[in-house]
Amino acid sequence: MASNVYRNGTGSHKGAMRPLAASNSSNVKSSSFKSRIPPSSNHSPGSAPLRRSNSAGGSDGVPGRVRVAVRLRPRNAEESVADADFADCVELQPELKRLKLRKNNWDSETYEFDEVLTEFASQKRVYEVVAKPVVESVLDGYNGTVMAYGQTGTGKTFTLGRLGEEDTSARGIMVRSMEEILANVSPETDSVSVSYLQDLLDPANDNISIVEDPKTGDVSLPGATHVEIRDERDFMELLRTGEAHRIAANTKLNTESSRSHAILMVHVKRSVLGAEDVIPSETDKSSHFAKPPKPLVRKSKLVLVDLAGSERIHKSGSEGHMLEEAKSINLSLSALGKCINALAENSAHVPVRDSKLTRLLRDSFGGTARTSLIVTIGPSPRHRGETTSTILFGQRAMKVENMLRIKEEFDYKSLSRKLEIQLDKLIAENERQQKVFDDEVERINLEALNRVSEVERNFAGALEKERLKCQMEYMESVKKLEEKMIENQQKHGCDGFMKDKCNGEGTGSSIVEDVAEVKKLLEKEIHMRKEAQEEVNKLKSQLGQCPDSGEGGGSEILKLQKALADEVRQKKKLEEEMIILRSQMLQLTFEADQMRRCLGRNGSANAYGGLDSPMSQVRDSLNGHKTPVAALFEQVGLQKILALLESEDANVRIHAVKVVANLAAEEANQERIVEAGGLTSLLVLLRSYEDENIRRVVAGAIANLAMNETNQELIMIQGGINLLSVTASCAEDPQTLRMVAGAIANLCGNDKLQTKLRSEGGIKALLGMARCGQPDVLSQVARGIANFAKCESRASTNGIKSGRSVLIDDGALPWIVQNANNDSSPIRRHIELALCHLAQHEVNAKDMISGGALWELVRISRDCSREDIRSLARRTLNLSRIFRAEMRRLRIE
Ligand code: ADP
Ligand code: MG
Repeated sequence: MASNVYRNGTGSHKGAMRPLAASNSSNVKSSSFKSRIPPSSNHSPGSAPLRRSNSAGGSDGVPGRVRVAVRLRPRNAEESVADADFADCVELQPELKRLKLRKNNWDSETYEFDEVLTEFASQKRVYEVVAKPVVESVLDGYNGTVMAYGQTGTGKTFTLGRLGEEDTSARGIMVRSMEEILANVSPETDSVSVSYLQDLLDPANDNISIVEDPKTGDVSLPGATHVEIRDERDFMELLRTGEAHRIAANTKLNTESSRSHAILMVHVKRSVLGAEDVIPSETDKSSHFAKPPKPLVRKSKLVLVDLAGSERIHKSGSEGHMLEEAKSINLSLSALGKCINALAENSAHVPVRDSKLTRLLRDSFGGTARTSLIVTIGPSPRHRGETTSTILFGQRAMKVENMLRIKEEFDYKSLSRKLEIQLDKLIAENERQQKVFDDEVERINLEALNRVSEVERNFAGALEKERLKCQMEYMESVKKLEEKMIENQQKHGCDGFMKDKCNGEGTGSSIVEDVAEVKKLLEKEIHMRKEAQEEVNKLKSQLGQCPDSGEGGGSEILKLQKALADEVRQKKKLEEEMIILRSQMLQLTFEADQMRRCLGRNGSANAYGGLDSPMSQVRDSLNGHKTPVAALFEQVGLQKILALLESEDANVRIHAVKVVANLAAEEANQERIVEAGGLTSLLVLLRSYEDENIRRVVAGAIANLAMNETNQELIMIQGGINLLSVTASCAEDPQTLRMVAGAIANLCGNDKLQTKLRSEGGIKALLGMARCGQPDVLSQVARGIANFAKCESRASTNGIKSGRSVLIDDGALPWIVQNANNDSSPIRRHIELALCHLAQHEVNAKDMISGGALWELVRISRDCSREDIRSLARRTLNLSRIFRAEMRRLRIE
């Protein structure tokens, strides 16, 4: 070591101010000594931090020279005695920050330090001058070192390590530093931990290894115990334990404390926010996806080093029994000295790796830490050599330049913690929003369903109302029509409605109006149905558009299916009503036609006669007016009308029967009606209904169908005569009786059915109906008897039949005779013909003579207004032997 380099030459105070200048004048100037210290290092307590770095671990730093203070220990008791006659080896000029080292009584050398602390300097002042700037830097995120160097017994431990438990003014740098750090960190965001090493150099304690971070160069001691410090008590406890341990170790080894280094490392971790980061406000919703604040953590370290006594360097090897220990102390201390030399000389190689101590202090000298060195000296001239070497060590250390760098890095842990919290918040928010969304969808679905069902309800209600109105109106018009017809009938006292003499065009035109009205109603109904269908389609498409809501879809479909089924039912009902209305229309058309026909004839009712069926006039009336009826018939369809015969609605039923009856009046329709099962339906109705109205119209329909020969046989096969007989026996209404009689009369005209008809009581039923006396009924009875008599006569002539007429057997003769001269010409005519047919067979002659029929025959042959019948009667009388004999007996010519 070129210690002489630092010697300040000789003698005079002048120019001896700075020993360093001689060797390093280009770099160091005495006048700029202070200015070379980074500005912040002069800051008063609590001043602004040295530097702010926005980039963690940034490579740029600020120069920060190692600061060196010298402290003189007061004379101790021993020195006061032993050195009583000598002056101190040093003289201090604290105001000039100078120290004079006496070589002898006449020669001295002067050294300048950053601080010169006299034997009167208080512990507080020492702390503030030496340690406080370093502690402040540590709190700002820089590494810091305070190290004491000096001969054993000069007060290194006094300066650094005193606890001051009895006297707080005696507290050393360690306690004061810790107090300051604890006062400035916040327990929520920051943490402080401490490790205390004092046996670092104990060869027996080699387990404490030193690890360097290859990136940052940071040194750590994984083997050392880190004690978390929350308050001063924790720290004092630790120091006490350390001290006790140190004392024990020293006692055991029979050494002094000076034989080991004591190192206290304080790790400070502080959380800070990146300068460009802004804390998002609670209300700022847009910040959900904004970059989270960049959390930074500053991990700085304060290293307080109480070195072993510096005299060991020179005394090593001289005391054999402590050789090993001395060697290691020597090794580390001399390694430290070499490093400081190399750094002071800006040497390319710094032998940091030569000892644990230098490795540990790598950052403190020539590194990034703010470093203060306090060199302690004693006043005794006996130790001038040690004091000199201590001062020179301090002088060299003053030349070591560090690059202070903030120890800042991303706080990944806290960043991930914050992100996790933010993520959780977002998840919760998302869940909340999803719930709101789901609720909204459900609400819309429900609303849509409600609306649909409301529309459906309204629609159904309106439809029902309209239907009832139409029905009422229709019933009303039918009633009016019927009333008018009855009125007309009564007014003219005509022979049934076919003989109505309608008075003028009033009635006719009112019927036409009614028909028009019903037509209008029908059109309205059709229009409404169309609208309803459109509405249904619209609703269906609306329902189709309704968003499918997951599991709700199934029930939605069910609801739709139900609604659809309702619609189908509704539609069917509507169709039924349409058919009814149409059939009613048909019925009215018939009746109107009849009316018109009556008006056209106006009093020529007598034109009907002969063997015309009761409905034949309807057929006639339709000539030239078939188009509307046929059109309606085509529109409605026979099957649908027949289906209505079985409707549960009595009104519908009766109208359907009327329509069928009217259709049956047309020969062209008869076969179709029977083919479609209409006859069977009508017979069923006749059998199952007590209702007179239905029976009347049914009988009329059957009567019309019975005009056709094939149908007549079908009626017989299906037991029709029996049913008609039953109806005939219990009916009261002349109209019913007229229709039943008409039907039987038609059957009587069928040659093939004679026997069956008679055996099943047809003749008796026919005669039984004569009890009512109504001319229309009597006319049909007479027609039936005439028809039967004609067929019977034909059968007898053809030899199919023999014996007396069944008409006589069944007791018809008295009634025939009795009505042979009836006022009503149709009755009279039928009976005249019947008498002629009976008279043609000799087997009947005797009965006829005894029953008084001969007289009637004679009268017919003389007085009948119809020529053909008159001559037939005459011919018949002439051909009969028995009649001629009787006439001769009675002298009738
Ligand atoms: P070192 O640690 O350097 O070996 P110590 O700190 O143990 O020295 O000091 C040796 C003795 O000197 C102790 O008794 C201590 O109390 C005393 N002493 C040291 N410095 C001072 C001082 N500035 N004022 C008063 N006494 C001191
Ligand atoms: Mg000590």
